[in-house]
Amino acid sequence: MVKVVDVPAMVRLLKGHGVERFLAELTDYISDDFRRWPAFDKSPRAATHSKDGVIELMPTCDGVLYGFKYVNGHPVNTRHGKLTVTAFGVLADVASGYPLFMAEMTLLTALRTAASSALAARHVARPESRVMALIGTGAQAEFQALAFKAVLGIERIRYFDLDPAAMVKFARNLSESGLILEAATSAADAAAGADILTTATAAKTRTELVTAAMVRPGMHINAIGGDCPGKTEVAPDVLGGARIFVEYTPQTLIEGEIQARDGAFDVTELWEVITGSRPGRRNAAEVTLFDSVGFAIEDFAALRYVHDLATARGETVELDLVPGVADPKDLFGLLR
Ligand code: NAD
Repeated sequence: MVKVVDVPAMVRLLKGHGVERFLAELTDYISDDFRRWPAFDKSPRAATHSKDGVIELMPTCDGVLYGFKYVNGHPVNTRHGKLTVTAFGVLADVASGYPLFMAEMTLLTALRTAASSALAARHVARPESRVMALIGTGAQAEFQALAFKAVLGIERIRYFDLDPAAMVKFARNLSESGLILEAATSAADAAAGADILTTATAAKTRTELVTAAMVRPGMHINAIGGDCPGKTEVAPDVLGGARIFVEYTPQTLIEGEIQARDGAFDVTELWEVITGSRPGRRNAAEVTLFDSVGFAIEDFAALRYVHDLATARGETVELDLVPGVADPKDLFGLLR
């Protein structure tokens, strides 16, 4: 039997445990797996591109568990009443190859992306950061805001989206969060006075949403929307002036803000900062940038966390996905 956490179970988990507590604990699980980075099999994800989107498989393995996530990215989807990003994932037992656990990962991707962003910021943003600009208030946005509140102590969010309805939705969803919410009139207006600048826009094109004029000394930029070839959010001169932190360089060179710029920028992988082998922020004036694309080890950690939490809270159901047979050579016997 395979244990499953479906969407209703994930919603019950989040409501029962609390979203901020979930995000804080998930951040620690991701941190734990980044600390044992060399133990994992790593490869850029396998991407199948089409006119309007991408479908990706993200595998990794630590020698005991094997995990993968199926995820799509289709910015056009919201025009047709569908989500831009949907996902599900699996953990399997390496010794037998049997699948053990399966979960919805649409909510979980938003949660793990936010937790990974907060983890990066915990290591490279100025610790006294309290104000975050958030550009793009779509599906990921509230999770980003709450993770930065729970993990970094962010108190105030200045937010902007081209779609006024998405801004109204964002404010409504976070009205009881304890965050001070300030609607901005443009991306530049949102960035004014911010310690951290998060970009979470979706457009299958190269935009220069973050310009040098929006960046001030000491700012940390958390760029999550540029995560596909031909899809970026940050102007090249901003990249040139920032210390850049990435998840896994070979994948980020394909998909991130630094795409197709091998050797043009000195990048540091986040796990190196977490383990202390390379420095994070070096002074209060440095501009830091997390060029997030989403990496398989984050999903592996998220699946581990949800497995542990859902098991402890009795929120898994069982799916009969692998035949149980008395004689393993008699598979056909199931039909008799
Ligand atoms: P979404 O479509 O729900 O929301 C995106 C929002 O951005 C929309 O409300 C849209 O109006 C707004 N927008 C687009 N262009 C804008 C602009 N120039 N200025 C201001 N707002 C603008 O998408 P989502 O699920 O919230 O995802 C956001 C982005 O994050 C996507 O590009 C997605 O691929 C990416 N993503 C990255 C990771 C990661 O690990 N790095 C994980 C999940 C999603």
